[in-house]
Amino acid sequence: MSLIYTVSQANIDYLDAMPALLDRLGVDHFFIQVIGVRGQWTDDADRRETLAQVDRQTWLTVVPQVAEKVARRGIPTTFPKVFLTPEENFECAGRVADNYFIFPNGRVYRCPLCEDYALHSFEIRDDQLVAAPRINEADLFPLTIPEGCVMNRIIQPRNLAALETGKPTYRIACCMLKELVTP
Ligand code: SF4
Repeated sequence: MSLIYTVSQANIDYLDAMPALLDRLGVDHFFIQVIGVRGQWTDDADRRETLAQVDRQTWLTVVPQVAEKVARRGIPTTFPKVFLTPEENFECAGRVADNYFIFPNGRVYRCPLCEDYALHSFEIRDDQLVAAPRINEADLFPLTIPEGCVMNRIIQPRNLAALETGKPTYRIACCMLKELVTP
């Protein structure tokens, strides 16, 4: 049995209660996920406050430590990297991995953050996988920006921060980059 906990500002304070609960439930693998801030409700101030992504400091203080605690109980735990340190390389899964997210309408995406938009790089037509018309997500993957993930910069800019000079304080990792903490 696996269990996924999607972290937002509304529930980050309860994450620390999970190690004991997972033990009691007999969970085999714990996944921590970060909430995606997308869609029209992001313009709703109340929802934005409660369901927003947690800030970098809170994420780094809470999430890796909880993952360690769960792993010490014998339960492998996976969580998204989200924030890169200056020493860590940024890599876009659209360029370095081979993932295909296939939708019933025939759209095929390489990037999960693109899925709300008609930016798919492939389509299934007559049972064949064919390239989609440009411009699409594949045109975004090679763009190199100081904020890290291009799609995050476009659709979730609220989780970025910048110095007075305008230089980003940190880079956002590819949403496909996960840490696995094993017992
Ligand atoms: S989430 Fe960002 S870095 Fe990852 S595949 Fe999509 S565009 Fe590339």
